[in-house]
Amino acid sequence: MTQPLQFSPGTPCRLADYDAGFHEGLEKEAAEAETRGHCEKLDELAYRLFAESQRAVVVVLQGIDTSGKDGTIRMLASGISPQCLDVASFKAPSSLELSHDFLWRVHAKVPAHGRIGIFNRSHYEDVVVVRVRKLVAKHIWKERYSQINAFEKLLLEGRITFVKCFLHISHDEQRKRLEDRLKDPKKQWKLGPADLEDRKLWDDFTAAYEDALSQCNTPEAPWHIVPANRKWYRNLVVARLVRQTLERLDPKFPPFDPTLLAKLT
Ligand code: AMP
Ligand code: MG
Repeated sequence: MTQPLQFSPGTPCRLADYDAGFHEGLEKEAAEAETRGHCEKLDELAYRLFAESQRAVVVVLQGIDTSGKDGTIRMLASGISPQCLDVASFKAPSSLELSHDFLWRVHAKVPAHGRIGIFNRSHYEDVVVVRVRKLVAKHIWKERYSQINAFEKLLLEGRITFVKCFLHISHDEQRKRLEDRLKDPKKQWKLGPADLEDRKLWDDFTAAYEDALSQCNTPEAPWHIVPANRKWYRNLVVARLVRQTLERLDPKFPPFDPTLLAKLT
């Protein structure tokens, strides 16, 4: 059983075509064991990236409320040494941030060469929540797709590789997760009235996401639609993607200067 994670650049994305509950027919235990293996490998690859210090990786996590961004970060951070990792969470912008262009605060959080950055939300909020909540005029958010593509191209040319993940959950699954948050004292803090209001705008969010995914799906920085109804399958897919990206980059330890050997006193 397969389901594509990507779609062709230039073609529209329809989220209804992707099964959020897809799991390759895998069992939870087998998937978790595979994920642990990827995390071990990730630790080694991230350490090599850090030693090389010539390139960086940004993992962009987007998805509707409760889609599992925090849990995905916990999984990635369980594999990668904090020394090599930066996590940036993008909330509603401050007045200072709003007084700049929308990419200003994002650029400031792009990891330095040698590091892996995880974006918990990102510049894509500026074409999703901003559009749904009508925070700027239409002609402004419409221009942002090409601005985002140009921004990502600039970063790519600066040796930053993107792994863009859309965590795809179903409407029913979101209801279950919101209910769970309402009932669990350890999760209640995560919930605000805005989350329940946003759920009413599910169709608007879906349309905004479909446009963002379609308009910003470049060959160099493609989107991945991660089936996320099962947390363990979501973790497996993201762990695989990040591992594959780092393996493709194949970071190298810097060359050793043998004259150092003679200098040890
Ligand atoms: P959370 O991820 O639950 O901590 O919530 C962060 C909130 O900040 C979400 O409701 C986002 O939609 C909101 N947010 C993030 N970026 C922006 C933005 N650029 N403009 C407006 N709201 C944003
Ligand atoms: Mg929230």
